[in-house]
Amino acid sequence: MATGVGIDPARIAQLTEREETHLNSETTGSARMYARSRKVMPMGVASSYQARSPHPIFLERGVGSKVWDVDGSEYRDFHNGFGSMVQGHAHPAITRAVAERMPQGTHFAAMTEDSVVVAEELARRWGLPKWRFTNSGSESTMDAIRLARAHTGRELVVKMEGSYHGHHDTVMVSIGIDIDDDAVGPANRPNSVPYGGGIPACTVAQTIPVPFNDADALDARLTELAGKVACVIMEPGMMNIGVVLPQDGYLAAVREVTLKHGVLLIFDEVKTGITIAAGGAVERFGVTPDIVTLAKALGGGLPSGAIGGSEEVMASIESGLVYQVGTYNGNPLSMAAARASFLEVMTPDAYAHLEHLNDRLHEGLGAIIERHGFPAHVIGLGAKGCIVFSPDPVLNYRDWAHKTNGPLNELAWLYNMNRGIFMTPGREEEWTLSVQHDDADVDRFIDVFAELASDLTS
Ligand code: PMP
Repeated sequence: MATGVGIDPARIAQLTEREETHLNSETTGSARMYARSRKVMPMGVASSYQARSPHPIFLERGVGSKVWDVDGSEYRDFHNGFGSMVQGHAHPAITRAVAERMPQGTHFAAMTEDSVVVAEELARRWGLPKWRFTNSGSESTMDAIRLARAHTGRELVVKMEGSYHGHHDTVMVSIGIDIDDDAVGPANRPNSVPYGGGIPACTVAQTIPVPFNDADALDARLTELAGKVACVIMEPGMMNIGVVLPQDGYLAAVREVTLKHGVLLIFDEVKTGITIAAGGAVERFGVTPDIVTLAKALGGGLPSGAIGGSEEVMASIESGLVYQVGTYNGNPLSMAAARASFLEVMTPDAYAHLEHLNDRLHEGLGAIIERHGFPAHVIGLGAKGCIVFSPDPVLNYRDWAHKTNGPLNELAWLYNMNRGIFMTPGREEEWTLSVQHDDADVDRFIDVFAELASDLTS
């Protein structure tokens, strides 16, 4: 695995140790809470993705673009709940909508008007006519795949190698793989590899990975598996290995290839939806799949998800062939938040503001990279973006694993945390801006990166 071009690994290690010591000394309240949580929760966290060594940072509250940890430290939040909080924390419109709903009852498992308003807005934004609700991204992708299997009468699922689509068995395949392990197979025809334990081998064998940004490899695999594949599920832009954008013409080619093979195309927009444009990747890249899955930013901080589809595909639910169900689907609190988010917060002005902030970040970070000859480049669109710690473009998972500098990512995270920028721990995360971020927030992010670049190159 690459450790970086032109950056001395010993210097990275030295700075990492210094920064780690500092962060630990500033987060003793989190360490104390972790001592309690680890006694009653595996890894001391609610979800394994919240774990961090030696302890996770416990937060107390968030308002606007900022969050505060239990030690009282203030951070500008660029993690934003794994990309869910594009509205920013405690947005007044969402707070009001939820507060008004609360005393009127929070759950009935019966229809309320807000879910209709939200579905209407989804249909308008995505150009897909029919919508159903879920409670998470995992539920959305699980239901979308079942729908595709029922619609086609086929069982195999094709996904992009390295893409994350949630934690149900079918999609827990070929993620975070060790590319130096022979088990992963050749790059243009990868093997199916389980992501963690507890996933039946027969399920793993039904999910086939292909490389992102390679429509020919997809076409070849679908030809080989002719008549057996129900769907291709993919993020239209990969957002779980930093950000990897589709090359020009790639998504259109995927659309063409899937139509040719009679395979449904699912765009998993759990991360791109709502964040990169009002109508997500479908609007931004101009390609319409058969099914779209949403979650994260849909509920403005309340658990929710959705699947949208063509009349033809959603007819399988309409006819009763497919059970798309869930006690909390369309929960009134989540729907009140989603309605306020769509109608009052995520407006055309909000998207213009996000583009402005992202452009400013892009330019500011790009100038630093240029000035220091730093081995990195910047990607950004809408609320999303990242610094890719590789001088060369990254096209897919193996590229990312080969080219990007893991230790440098970790050091950048520590620099951010120690200087008031809250970021997701881990090599693969990107930033999510919120509509409540401002120029001062992004300038701080740029300043911290300038300090890192200078400390590593001078
Ligand atoms: N799809 C994508 C693209 C995701 O990024 C995620 C979560 N990171 C999921 C699905 C799963 O969503 P959830 O964690 O809400 O189940």
